[in-house]
Amino acid sequence: MPQQTDWRFCGQCHELFFDGYPDKGRCPSGGGHAAAGYNFSLPHDQGATPTTQPDWRFCGKCQAMFFDGYPDKGSCPGGGGHAAAGFNFALPHDVPAGAFTQDAWRFCGKCQAMFFDGYPDKGSCPGGGGHAAAGYDFVLPRLPAPGEGVPIDDGTELNPVDG
Ligand SMILES: [Zn+2]
Ligand SMILES: [Zn+2]
Ligand SMILES: [Zn+2]
Repeated sequence: MPQQTDWRFCGQCHELFFDGYPDKGRCPSGGGHAAAGYNFSLPHDQGATPTTQPDWRFCGKCQAMFFDGYPDKGSCPGGGGHAAAGFNFALPHDVPAGAFTQDAWRFCGKCQAMFFDGYPDKGSCPGGGGHAAAGYDFVLPRLPAPGEGVPIDDGTELNPVDG
């Protein structure tokens, strides 16, 4: 399946944003987003299944991942609603977390961006205050962290990506 890497957690606003450009977008906490933690590799442009939700898009204004499936495009720190560009991501939800996935990623019902809900601090929402989780529990696939590959007996490493 086609995937795109360089999706990262922003340590300031707790949103999921695309870190593949020199421009880091617009963070609701001010300035650009600041990458921390894992490098997520996300599937796009494939059919929906009972445990994947399509219509997750890159916002060309703030560079966050947001849900484009509603007429209301949420609240963008770049002004107005988010503006979809690029791939149509179909993100896995409500499946068991594995070795190279992270759960507790949620849709914010205020700004409509994807954010990490695993901390008591809910980050900075362009809709005001912290993000507010709604809907599915997303389980995002990620690349192994440096040095994290798991050696097995024949000396090869486990491949974190199916296929
Ligand atoms: Zn941010
Ligand atoms: Zn936006
Ligand atoms: Zn929010």
